[in-house]
Amino acid sequence: PSVVSFRQVSKSYGTGAGAVHALAEVDVDVRRGEFTAIMGPSGSGKSTFMNVAAGLDDVTSGGVFLDGQPLHTMDDTARTMLRRRQVGFVFQSFNLVPTLTVAENIVLPFQLAGHRVSPDEQQWIDHLVHVLGLTERIGHKPAELSGGQQQRVAIARALAPRPAIIFADEPTGNLDTRSSSEVLQLMRSAATEYGQTIAMVSHDPIAASYADRVLVLADGRVVADHGRLSPQQIS
Ligand code: ADP
Ligand code: ADP
Repeated sequence: PSVVSFRQVSKSYGTGAGAVHALAEVDVDVRRGEFTAIMGPSGSGKSTFMNVAAGLDDVTSGGVFLDGQPLHTMDDTARTMLRRRQVGFVFQSFNLVPTLTVAENIVLPFQLAGHRVSPDEQQWIDHLVHVLGLTERIGHKPAELSGGQQQRVAIARALAPRPAIIFADEPTGNLDTRSSSEVLQLMRSAATEYGQTIAMVSHDPIAASYADRVLVLADGRVVADHGRLSPQQIS
């Protein structure tokens, strides 16, 4: 079953001769448990692809399904509720709340959804904190952590509610080589061991080599759809 399905999705900005076609008749299925890298030059439609798939942006035409639900026919409230339950985000800039501890940042998605953390969910969160090596840092604020640790907190926060899909936007863009490979290995094992679906935008051939699948966009179209590739094959 597909977690994200695009059916002839087009997204344009403006009209007539000056219109920009950020996405043009895109058909894509992202399967459950698949770790997909989305690549392509600046302006090729990568951000638009993620925003549309997460229900943050409307399409101009076509159909978008998230976990089988038609985003293109939902109103904003329904889309927001679906996103809160089914989508996790990881950003280049980590986007942690500076005034909250690691533990508080990780449970933030539950609080935003007005959902009390159940004992079973707390057990899962404790497990994530342990395997992500954050146990010693649980009471610290983000500013007291290294970049790699901050990104691991962001990954824990994204994984905690067990979303259908995690969108990661240049998740290693601010990390050194060692922290990058830690973060990429975590995403790799989240997909392999937990069946977590991940869609990652990255310019980095090494990052993309961790993915099961490499989608390449150009001018709003999918111009290549590969299986797993080596960094040499990507660059
Ligand atoms: P990428 O993430 O690959 O850099 P984007 O999805 O951001 O590409 O952009 C795709 C195209 O859509 C670009 O030509 C960009 O200038 C245009 N675009 C994106 N957002 C807007 C917007 N809000 N208004 C007008 N044009 C936009
Ligand atoms: P520890 O040695 O601290 O118990 P491990 O690294 O042995 O932790 O964790 C067990 C396995 O589960 C590892 O292969 C790890 O990569 C994987 N794993 C556990 N949780 C996650 C997660 N949230 N994201 C990615 N991989 C995970």
